[in-house]
Amino acid sequence: MEGGEFVQTTEGQTRLLVPRLSLTAKVPPKTPAFFNPSAKLNRDLSILAYRTFLPRLKEKTFADAFTGVGARALRVAVEVPDMEQVYGNDVNPTAVEMAKKAAALNSVSDKCHFCIDEVCKFLLRGTEAGERFGIVDLDPFGTPARHIDCVLRAVLDDGLISITATDTAVLCGIYPEVCLRRYYGRPLNNSYGNETAMRLLTSLIALTSSRLELAIKPVFAHSTMHYLRVYATVSVSSSEANNVYNNIGYIMHCFQCGHRTAVQEFDSSKKCELCHSKLKIGGQLWTGALHDREFIAKMSEGAERQHKKILDAAIEEIGVPYYFRADEISSRLKTNPYSVQKIIEKLRACGYMASRTPLNTGAFKTDARIDQILQVLK
Ligand SMILES: [Zn+2]
Repeated sequence: MEGGEFVQTTEGQTRLLVPRLSLTAKVPPKTPAFFNPSAKLNRDLSILAYRTFLPRLKEKTFADAFTGVGARALRVAVEVPDMEQVYGNDVNPTAVEMAKKAAALNSVSDKCHFCIDEVCKFLLRGTEAGERFGIVDLDPFGTPARHIDCVLRAVLDDGLISITATDTAVLCGIYPEVCLRRYYGRPLNNSYGNETAMRLLTSLIALTSSRLELAIKPVFAHSTMHYLRVYATVSVSSSEANNVYNNIGYIMHCFQCGHRTAVQEFDSSKKCELCHSKLKIGGQLWTGALHDREFIAKMSEGAERQHKKILDAAIEEIGVPYYFRADEISSRLKTNPYSVQKIIEKLRACGYMASRTPLNTGAFKTDARIDQILQVLK
């Protein structure tokens, strides 16, 4: 390895050793190791989530299955000081070497354990004592689908998992057949496709859990153009696993008039109740809550402004499994766009529930139907 290829950078309160090129290149290179500076927000939020969850952990151990140069693992070791042991794994020996060196730079070598192994082997081996991990993070290139079983088998009862998907084109409906085989559900390539995507990802995690007699409860989810990320608690309970289908359903979308509804049962013969066009079906997918208000409120305490913005939208969000974009409404009304805040105020004034959503800053959620929204804003 060339000595000059890696440079020191600081993210949060943690020193990292990263490929020089990754700090300047538009798309960070995969060799000699991968580091994505633009995932800082993602890692910042995860620090807030893990700090919040820490008091609930029976064993204060953290596993980072695709650790790369150790960015997330090292930040947890440094910035979640009460985390007792941190485990990181990557198949790239150069990346792991840098992670170990950076652990020394941060004086956290004692509690950091980095290894080079296949992801599932690493996860199933567990801690040095052979125990499961308190928190397991999975942040792969592309789809997490093939590793979900191992993540669930590697986490303690009442532990936390955080899973990222970067196959957003698949989950948002560009490749529906790939989505169906990876996530057992159909995507919707429409104006709220990233929420459907989040719910497809969560549904796969929930259904896999139920097969293993586990139950999940999502506590926080957020997304950007490039990734979707969900945090969920996992508990051993066959009785709760039996109830998984209470939170699994479908979203019916009318591409003609923009009407959308969530339903429990699949019915391909159903026509749009507003315009009688054929409906497009998204799912099966998770229709339950993605956010635990109390948990996110704790995350938000002392958070920086840019993080607070996302967290506060999640706290406020009402329990409707799809959103409406403000520009979508104005184009139907053929008017200048209303601000999201204005739309929410008008809907509330007419007695509807309405809120922002962390999944799209230009969108809102409401229990009003599209015809009712258009009526209110006309
Ligand atoms: Zn319709």
